[in-house]
Amino acid sequence: MALLEVKNINSYYGNIHALKDISFEVHEGEIVSLIGANGAGKSTTLRTVSGLMNSRTGSITYNGEDISRASADELPNKGIALVPEGRGVFASLTVSENLELGAYTRKANKAMRDDMEAMYELFPRLGERKKQLAGTMSGGEQQMLAIGRALMSKPKLLLLDEPSMGLAPVLVDGVFETIQRVQKEGITVVLVEQNAHMALQIAERGYVLQSGEIVIADSAENLRNDPAVQRTYLGI
Ligand code: ATP
Repeated sequence: MALLEVKNINSYYGNIHALKDISFEVHEGEIVSLIGANGAGKSTTLRTVSGLMNSRTGSITYNGEDISRASADELPNKGIALVPEGRGVFASLTVSENLELGAYTRKANKAMRDDMEAMYELFPRLGERKKQLAGTMSGGEQQMLAIGRALMSKPKLLLLDEPSMGLAPVLVDGVFETIQRVQKEGITVVLVEQNAHMALQIAERGYVLQSGEIVIADSAENLRNDPAVQRTYLGI
């Protein structure tokens, strides 16, 4: 059974038909990448899965449960966390305060403090900067913090929207390493990326979106070797 199964969803912004019969599945432990050009519908897919918007038709099943109509605030408790595009860390709060906020669904207690320590072990850079204001960290560090904050809700499934966006090339590798480290912790990842090259390097499988539709679904390896994908998305 897939951990996440999305079947024939159709999402709209008013009259704009942004997702057209999108179907995909994600198995436990996988990194699955959704790639595509600007406006293809990648973010809308994550917004729909995470309950920020509802699809008009189709179904979304997570861990055997129908979450098609669940709202965004219910999903962290079910084990789904979203890191939105643009990171959204609280610039005027410190690293440790941002992490605490990520555990907002849970009580502040010893378990939470232990989890913060675990986060600092996973991401030593955050541990060195506990008291630094998030807004003064580099883009790559802020992305790491945004991911760390999402992990504080103890998700089984992490949805990442364009984590490499706006980062200097030298920082991009670090972000993708972070994502692989998250996978090693046993967390399943759906990764939306314009950087198809990196996204297909670390993923098991991928889907290509175009104008709101999934046009190719395959293993990441086959996608990397697909001439059409290479031409359009990998610049080869
Ligand atoms: P990008 O990489 O540029 O973020 P994307 O693949 O994530 O692109 P979406 O943001 O999902 O694409 O957009 C899909 C379509 O929906 C686009 O045509 C976009 O213009 C439209 N759209 C997105 N957000 C809204 C909105 N709030 N109101 C109206 N239309 C929207």
